[in-house]
Amino acid sequence: MDHDRSELLDSNFDDATLAVRAGTMRSAFGEHSEGLFLTSSYVFASAAEAAARFSESEPGYTYSRFTNPTVTMFEERLAAMEHAERCVATASGMSAILSVCMGLLKSGDHIVASLSLFGSTIGLFNNILSRFGITTTYVPLDDVSAWEAAIQPNTKLFYLETPSNPLMELADISAIAAVTKARGVILAVDNCFATPILQKPLTMGADIVVHSATKYIDGQGRVLGGAVLGNKDLMQQVFLFLRTAGPTLSAFNAWTLLKSLETLPLRMERHCQTALALAEWLEQHPAVERVYHPGLASHPQHALAKQQQTMGGGVLSFIVKGGREAAWQVIDATRMISITGNLGDAKTTITHPASTTHFRISPEAREAAGVVEGLLRVSVGLESLEDIRQDLSTGLDLCLR
Ligand SMILES: *Cc1c(COP(=O)(O)O)cnc(C)c1O
Repeated sequence: MDHDRSELLDSNFDDATLAVRAGTMRSAFGEHSEGLFLTSSYVFASAAEAAARFSESEPGYTYSRFTNPTVTMFEERLAAMEHAERCVATASGMSAILSVCMGLLKSGDHIVASLSLFGSTIGLFNNILSRFGITTTYVPLDDVSAWEAAIQPNTKLFYLETPSNPLMELADISAIAAVTKARGVILAVDNCFATPILQKPLTMGADIVVHSATKYIDGQGRVLGGAVLGNKDLMQQVFLFLRTAGPTLSAFNAWTLLKSLETLPLRMERHCQTALALAEWLEQHPAVERVYHPGLASHPQHALAKQQQTMGGGVLSFIVKGGREAAWQVIDATRMISITGNLGDAKTTITHPASTTHFRISPEAREAAGVVEGLLRVSVGLESLEDIRQDLSTGLDLCLR
């Protein structure tokens, strides 16, 4: 296997170019499109070659739980797009987060994390890592001094998502990175909502980026996948956990995700344009109380969004006047939009966080977090703006009767 054009692995090229070409390797057959290598193991020309591969004194493949050429191509392409030294691909977003924790933390360590996190991430920290003596303190995403004040002598990791779900709050990555750099803490950013097209946290001082490739990176709802990115030393520790424990990315999913990456820049541009246009329309709608989208001038962190992100993102949320009854009415009046908690898909999705993704949280804590009964979250897909607007306006107009 040879790299097509190894210069494409440095990041002087634009995202649109890297997305299509970075990491491509060719076998002796000279295939143009990236090959799908469905093999669990590899053969060697001699006993000496086998020994050299296993001792890693010579590069090459030994077993697909460790590495696979199709997976390598996906890792190198995403690493180029995130400006990372190395990417380690995983079976899902959650196995990426698990691999960061298992690779870098030990019993007695402490995590500081943002209050608004993906539900399973909170479950991992509170219910699983806690059994191994790892503790977590939660702080408001946007309060840099709260992050700093939460540091204990045993704090090893800061963990955050920006923009957050469902209220699209932002963390100032550079400001938080200044704190972690001064205190010797590792900063990990879940970049699932933004993708490298909107922001590259490693260039702002973060040490680690994690992805659920299941969301925008695939973007078509087909496969689960994840990734961890960062410098070679940190990634080697993550990789040693991964190759031993086994939640690695399958070759088939890596191949699907390689093809997905080719259209990621185009898709993100369209997701973001349509989401902003919908957010602006919703803000003017008499049945709507408030809209949350970083691209709106009314967003409390709009200035930070403009500085940190190239676009506002494809997800928005809004509060309908009339509480749960009105919100459910908007959902039930849709004819096209998918009623599901998933996001980052070509198909627009709508969800009522208070009764689905956030229903386990007590009503008081939910209200305090801003997840009120009238809140709806929309992950804006690739359908036409006019058709999505039409589908949302049916229920909104009913609210005005
Ligand atoms: C979905 C999601 C995850 C988990 O990813 P899976 O691929 O479902 O394991 C992690 N973080 C965020 C922000 C997500 O939206």
